[in-house]
Amino acid sequence: MRELQKYNKKRNFKKTKEPIGKKQKSTKKLHFVVQHHLARKDHFDLRLEWHGVLKSWAVPKGPSYNSKDRRLAVKVEDHPLNYRNFEGTIPKGEYGGGTVMIWDEGYWEPISSTVSFKKPIKFLLHGKRLKGHWTLIPFKEENWLLIKEKDEEPFQDIKNFTTSIRSGKTMEEIAGKIILTNSEKMIDKKNKITKKDIFSYYEKIAERMLPYIKNRLISTIRSPQGIEKTKFYKKHFENIDNYLGKIKITNDKGKKEDYYYIKDTQGILSEVQMNSYEFHIWGSTVPKIKKPNLMIFDLDPDEKLSLEKVREGVKDLKSILDELKLPAFLKTSGGKGYHIVVPLPMKSWNDFRNFAKNIANLMEKKWPEKYTSNMSKKKRRNKIFIDWVRNTEKATSVAPYSVRLRKNIPVSMPIKWSELDKVKPNEITMKEAIKRLNRQDPWQELKDFL
Ligand code: ATP
Ligand code: MN
Repeated sequence: MRELQKYNKKRNFKKTKEPIGKKQKSTKKLHFVVQHHLARKDHFDLRLEWHGVLKSWAVPKGPSYNSKDRRLAVKVEDHPLNYRNFEGTIPKGEYGGGTVMIWDEGYWEPISSTVSFKKPIKFLLHGKRLKGHWTLIPFKEENWLLIKEKDEEPFQDIKNFTTSIRSGKTMEEIAGKIILTNSEKMIDKKNKITKKDIFSYYEKIAERMLPYIKNRLISTIRSPQGIEKTKFYKKHFENIDNYLGKIKITNDKGKKEDYYYIKDTQGILSEVQMNSYEFHIWGSTVPKIKKPNLMIFDLDPDEKLSLEKVREGVKDLKSILDELKLPAFLKTSGGKGYHIVVPLPMKSWNDFRNFAKNIANLMEKKWPEKYTSNMSKKKRRNKIFIDWVRNTEKATSVAPYSVRLRKNIPVSMPIKWSELDKVKPNEITMKEAIKRLNRQDPWQELKDFL
């Protein structure tokens, strides 16, 4: 364990997926690995198994088959044996943040019977790309030289090897891990909006969007052939690359079903890659899935009702929430109305639902000619339905910053209360939403409640 203390101290294992350092039994044959590591500086890490750890050197220029090249190799902290299996990304800001690829692997063999990591070491490499005789020579403190000895092995230019010896992936593929296919596919023909445009939109908006959707179970709308063609509602689905969080939820018949949630930007983008563009979210988060905390009221006007009346409805509802001293946040639906979001943690879905229902009832009682809490279209004539039903377990509503698969691909956009009279429910497009990133987050204060 002592050997790996340095390794463990440098890393926060809550954040990085690198293995925790534990000394392991050495195997009979000694492994070696070379990892291509694109961090602050691009370099290769040479690691040789020795007494249950990996002795490690960072080689800025990488190894060379040319015996005249003397490649600087800086000795670094010992790594755990299973580090040789690590390929992936280390989060930005963490130690070694960047991309790691398993560039070569195999066994190594010291030439002499005694090995000291203070003296020159002559050894053989039995890798797929690195073979033959090599020497490591210490010259000053942690600085060593890595030199290819002359032997029968044919010369190879290491620059030709750009993929992982394990997964075959390029650095880009490991890092982005999300490759966008069919990027030129038209989603909105009339406005020439492609899959790539939507992908880029989510890439840019993700950081702003994530606090409000992270860890909330989702259902999505898929549109493989554009908005004019068939759309699919997806509640439980197999995102092959596993970028999403997954939990089991028991349905009415007692059967367990898989539900999904977004954890990070990659989660959003992997859904877009699968042609799921529209995100709908639950009112609770994982793991407190039985304790909702984000209430939503949707104002659904009768078709003939003017926008003015809808805005008046929003103001009336806000006045009730104000009286109850409840904080409230506003967004456009991206469709016909507005959504009002209230952070309100409750201990059960039943309480949550009843509370929302009571608010809708109150609206109806106070202004019976303007509002109804009844879903039926008949009762909605000339009125606005205060949709409280979304606050029941398993119900969803469109996520803030989600695009809508409708004409012009509008966004369900968080706005300030002072903007209610200026912004129409479907007028914010992806372009406009990105422009607004320069402004302060209109929902900034909501974050304190989540
Ligand atoms: P508008 O302003 O046009 O009324 P809206 O977002 O308020 O927009 P709809 O888009 O009609 O309303 O959505 C109605 C309900 O259907 C919402 O609760 C929404 O979450 C739900 N819904 C939409 N897509 C899905 C889906 N993929 N899975 C489950 N529920 C969905
Ligand atoms: Mn609505």
